[in-house]
Amino acid sequence: MIVAKTRAELRIKRHELIVAYHKANLSRPVVGIVPTMGALHAGHSSLIEHMVRECDLSVVTIFINPAQFAPGEDYDTYPRTLDNDLRVCEQAGVHLVFAPGKDEMYPADYQTTVRVAGLAEQWCGAARPGHFDGVTTVVSKLFGLIQPDRAYFGQKDYQQYRVIERMAIDLELSVDIVPCEIEREPDGLALSSRNRYLSPAERAAAPRIYQALTRMQELFAEGEREVARLIASAGRLLNDGPGPLIKLEYFAVVHPRSLQARETAEPGDRVLIATRLGKTRLIDNVPLEG
Ligand code: AMP
Repeated sequence: MIVAKTRAELRIKRHELIVAYHKANLSRPVVGIVPTMGALHAGHSSLIEHMVRECDLSVVTIFINPAQFAPGEDYDTYPRTLDNDLRVCEQAGVHLVFAPGKDEMYPADYQTTVRVAGLAEQWCGAARPGHFDGVTTVVSKLFGLIQPDRAYFGQKDYQQYRVIERMAIDLELSVDIVPCEIEREPDGLALSSRNRYLSPAERAAAPRIYQALTRMQELFAEGEREVARLIASAGRLLNDGPGPLIKLEYFAVVHPRSLQARETAEPGDRVLIATRLGKTRLIDNVPLEG
């Protein structure tokens, strides 16, 4: 596995890998990318394994993108575990890891922002101003550098997946955006690099987020369609019992593509939730099946 830390190194190594593949196979490789911020866990591994199965050349990027953290967020304390991340990539069969520093991605004369209007302004975009501008900007740069045919994103960050899909359509980027299933702990908590911030009491309470989501699915399956009633019933589970408070930032049923809030739920809609446990912000989501 090759590790590139600069854009120049990446371009050369990518080119060499493509030429070698072409010589051996007399065809162009399908290039895949999994963009990450590192601190890799089983959620990332499932994206990486999905890519390795489907692509001829597999690239993982590891970059804690300062542009997607608002002032006062956890950029400085975000976990950095590069040695372990490289082992995970190597074992999964990744060919190339790009792990640049922040000055490498944003040199002093850097000036451009990529913004998806509308879709990126609601939900997490409203709670974290500028967050999605940082995401779409860095993902555009990574697409430009790696020129992937397929890019793998977790549905854990459902809005991010839809925002990037929109960007790829609007900017005519010839890359398939591939959504991947959410990986969870046995108790239902969605895996996240930020779960390690939780105190033992917060960790014990955190599975209630997924319990509220699955309650929503059950109520929907039983025929309830009125969103206000669905939210009121399922929301009660969040702070049912002892332990720290789960503060709700938003809890909504939305159209799966436009992410517009619904008053009456329909099959195929998505339930989105964002919460705070102490200082830690946790998000999750589930589909409503017909
Ligand atoms: P991050 O390193 O947090 O930027 O995440 C990198 C990619 O991994 C994103 O596409 C995330 O949606 C995805 N991801 C993070 N957690 C999970 C999870 N629990 N299940 C599936 N994908 C995930």
